[in-house]
Amino acid sequence: MKKIIIASNNEHKIIEIREILSQFPFEVVSLKEANINIDVEETGSTFMDNAYIKASEIHKIADGNMVLADDSGLAVESLNGAPGVMSARFAGEHGNNKANNEKLLYLLDGVADEQRKAKFVCAMVLIVDEDNIIKVQGEVEGIITAEYRGDEGFGYDPLFFVKEYNKTFAQMSNKEKNTTSHRGMALNKLKSELEKLI
Ligand code: IMP
Repeated sequence: MKKIIIASNNEHKIIEIREILSQFPFEVVSLKEANINIDVEETGSTFMDNAYIKASEIHKIADGNMVLADDSGLAVESLNGAPGVMSARFAGEHGNNKANNEKLLYLLDGVADEQRKAKFVCAMVLIVDEDNIIKVQGEVEGIITAEYRGDEGFGYDPLFFVKEYNKTFAQMSNKEKNTTSHRGMALNKLKSELEKLI
């Protein structure tokens, strides 16, 4: 079976991606499962630049397997799109979700609901081979809450409220989040492209 190497070791992401791509005859593996140990620097200024940088660096050492990289994050309108590509290290330390969320709450302290609009963006690049590169992007709009709501998910999930569901991402089941999330949307676009391949 053909392999798709996901350019990530983030368990949450791998689970979401595996679930959404389960209909395809591809083995979806993490970097660790593919025995790839590489730290690619995300030097791009857009989510798409960063996804492409990751996918292409890893594809060079992927034994001809397909590589799927994503770069995602949160953009808050009244913060001029911050944290943006800095989402994972907004408060300094990479991946410190608690500190990132606290910084976001601090910056939006006292800010009215209308000015708490935000969107999650997910850019994805699938390198099938050098001549066949698929790029897709998904986005979902929400409001940054003034307090934490829910225990599911990761990152900014407890602060990202989606009106249509009357829930934050952290109050949704995996299935609900996959249906509405930026990553779910990007993956659905990717699915349509993949259907043309098999
Ligand atoms: P990356 O795509 O792994 O670089 O993700 C960057 C950062 O964006 C993560 O560390 C999270 O803080 C945030 N992020 C991306 N997607 C999500 C999501 O679905 N929920 C919550 N936070 C997210």
